[in-house]
Parts: sequence; C-alpha cells; structure tokens
Amino acid sequence: MAYNDFNMDSHWLPFTPNRAFRKDPRVFVAADGMTFTTHDGRQVIDGISSLWCVGAGHNRKPINDAIKKQLDTLDYATAFQASNDQAFKAAEMIAQMAPGDLNKVLFCNSGSEAADTSLKVALAYHRARGEGHRNVFIGREKGYHGVGFGGMSVGGIPANRKVYGTALLPRVDHLRFIHDPANAYIHNREPESQEDFLLELENRILPLHDPSNVAAIIVEPVAGSAGWYIPPRGYLKRLREICDKHGILLIFDEVITGFGRMGTAFGADFYGVVPDMLNFAKCVTNGVIPLGGVICRDRIYDQMMKTDAAEHVIEFFHGYTYSGHPVACAAAVATLDVYRQENLFARAGEMGKVLGDAFHSTFKGLPNVIGIRSLGLAAAVELAPIAGSPGKRAYDIFVDCFKKGALVRPAGDVLVIAPPYVVEKEHIDRLVNTLADSVKAHA
Ligand code: PMP
Repeated sequence: MAYNDFNMDSHWLPFTPNRAFRKDPRVFVAADGMTFTTHDGRQVIDGISSLWCVGAGHNRKPINDAIKKQLDTLDYATAFQASNDQAFKAAEMIAQMAPGDLNKVLFCNSGSEAADTSLKVALAYHRARGEGHRNVFIGREKGYHGVGFGGMSVGGIPANRKVYGTALLPRVDHLRFIHDPANAYIHNREPESQEDFLLELENRILPLHDPSNVAAIIVEPVAGSAGWYIPPRGYLKRLREICDKHGILLIFDEVITGFGRMGTAFGADFYGVVPDMLNFAKCVTNGVIPLGGVICRDRIYDQMMKTDAAEHVIEFFHGYTYSGHPVACAAAVATLDVYRQENLFARAGEMGKVLGDAFHSTFKGLPNVIGIRSLGLAAAVELAPIAGSPGKRAYDIFVDCFKKGALVRPAGDVLVIAPPYVVEKEHIDRLVNTLADSVKAHA
C-alpha cells in the first residue's frame, strides 16, 4: 500500500518540534486494537492510548457503528436554544457514573474548553450567590489544564506559560507541586509523605488573597501531563476540607483520570473525594470524536436557576456551537456502553498492577533512572536530565522507541506508558522492554 502520498508544506503541527519532524516524520494512517500502522507501513504499539484517550482500543465496531448510524440520522443540530436526543442520553449516563451529586453536565469539545468552562461557572456561581468578589483562582505548579487562557493561567507547566507573560489571568496563584523526592519510587500505592504540601495554602496563599476572595481551586487528582505525579495519601481529602471551610469551589480536572484510568470511573472515586465540578474529555468517546464537559454538583446548577430575571433570559451565557454535538454524544453513549459491557475500568486497575510490576522490575537500577511511579493504568520512569538540555534525553528516547515500534509519552525527562484498558501482558512486556532498551542506549 502506498502510504507516503502526502505533502508536508501546510500542516503546522501542534505540540511538536516541526523542524525535526519534517526531517523524520511520524505519520499514522491506520489503527486497530493496540496497534497503529505508519505511513511507511510499520506497526507501532499504542503505549499511551494515543494521548490518554483510547481506553477501549482502536477501531471498536460498536463505537464506529453508533457514529455511522448517528451521521445518517441526525448529523448536527444547533445547540442554541435547542438540543438533541443524544446529548440528553450521554449526559444522563455520565451523571449516573459520576459520584455524589455531580449531576449536571455542561458539554464542550475538549479538555481546554472544559477548564475554561469550569472557571467561568465558578465566577458565575459566586456572583449569583452575591459573592462576585470571589475571583481568585488557585491552580498547582506543573498542573495542566489545556491551552485556553483560563486553563493556561491556572496551569503551571512553565513551557506552556512562558511566551504569554502577563497576558494570562491576573488573579491566580499556585499550590506547590506535590512531588516529595523521598517518594521517588511509588509502586501502585498512594505515597505517605512527611511533607505537608497544603501548609503553604493555609499559611501563605489564603491569607495573601483573603479566602473570601477565592473562587475555586483546580487540580488534577494525579498530575498527568507533568509526568504522572501522585499526591500523598490524604492530600485531596484535606484540600476538600479546606475548600469547604472557606466556601471555595473545588474543581477536579479529570481529563486524564476520568473514565477508567485509575481502575475506577473517576479519580474522585479512587480517592473518595467529591469535587464541586469535574472536568472530562478524552476517554469519554474513546478519543474517536472530540467531546469534553464539566459535571457540576446540583447546588451549582440550582443556584444558577435561582434568578430574578425573566424566564426567557439565558441563566448562564456560555456554550459552543458544538456543545453536545449529536455525533460526539452518540460516540460517548456507545463508548460508555463498551466500557461497562467489557468491565474495562476494573480491567484497567488489574492491568495497572501488571504494568507497575513490569516498570519497577525492569527500570530499577538502569542508567539515569531517578524515579519510577505507577498507579492506575499508568506508569512513569523519570530520568536525570542531560546537563543544559532538559527534556532532550526523554525526547530522544521517545523518537527511538517509535522507530522500534512503541509509542510512549515524553514529559520533560519523564517517560510515561498508559495503554488502552484492553492491553494484554504481551503488549506491556514489549512496550516496557522497548523503552528499557532505549533507556540503556541513551545512557
Ligand atoms: N486537562 C488535562 C488534565 C489534560 O491532560 C488535558 C490534555 N492532555 C487537557 C486538560 C486539555 O485537553 P485538550 O487537549 O482536549 O484541550
């Protein structure tokens, strides 16, 4: 099959070093199950669920069929003062899966839009309660909440922020990062830490801004894009308590941890902590069609509906042309059915143990390895950076692994594997062995 029939002049690739890519492209043309086919006819195992999205594996017939059927039935319908049957079905399924009284789903199209939507809901909610002065947001160092201005502002990955300088939201602060060097090695457990990572919130951040001015705190339950950093035991519960004490909304960005990655429906279930808003995207449609959203607790929605304005007035002036797109929502309904029928969240938890065991037994003691972390169906190996060239070692290893048939994820000098939940042990062995060979080759 001739797969190399494309011209690279026009496509400016996102999140990619374009100059290097054009000399040595990585282009997919097909995918099935755990495996991609590249433009030059090679097979590459999907070790990162593409971008943490493909929980059920590629080319799943029930999902594809649902999309095709939906295209032939209702291809699109306006989201302005109207909706479609699929949006109601998907929202109901998602609300039923979500813990506590997280029952109201505001759809959007991506994790970035979910982040900005949740921050806007927080402002509007406080305003509706007569607390419009609450407009400070708190994120966390190395947090990732997408590329919208809101998400970037509360996010804390320096490379994502540095070129925007002061153009980001002004009233934002950041919790300190959750990594304790004493816990460099975490094997399928929540680490215990002597460090109190929330002390600074109580001692510096809240007094500085006055807690009564803080609208929301947003965190990823496990820091995904930073390189799978796991909070110490009790951290999220304590964060919940502090938020409750001061009337601050707690937002979990579950774009990565949502829909099965932790072996549970959500990270909120894994940690037994219910946030006020829960952001999702990625795995909700198995990555096949873009869809994101924010699940809000009843009291947020109820407050927004309690308004003196006339009934024809829009209570929350926010939405996207494609909010609740019928094809995306049909994909979500089919995807969530597949997850349930195949019990894939539990499977993710089980295979996560296999992955974690493989990581710890394979990487411990290899050259430059300074940490190994596993929890849920994701594991990370952290390498000492090359002096003066942070990120280069992991990038080179990523490129090398790709050539050897394994797609892994570099994040700074961390390499992450987080495969689809349908992964088999033989895939894990191949992924981990390929990565280990590359780590040795780049010593
Ligand atoms: N939040 C988190 C936690 C993410 O991991 C991501 C994407 N990796 C986003 C938000 C942004 O999602 P998207 O790329 O769909 O905008």
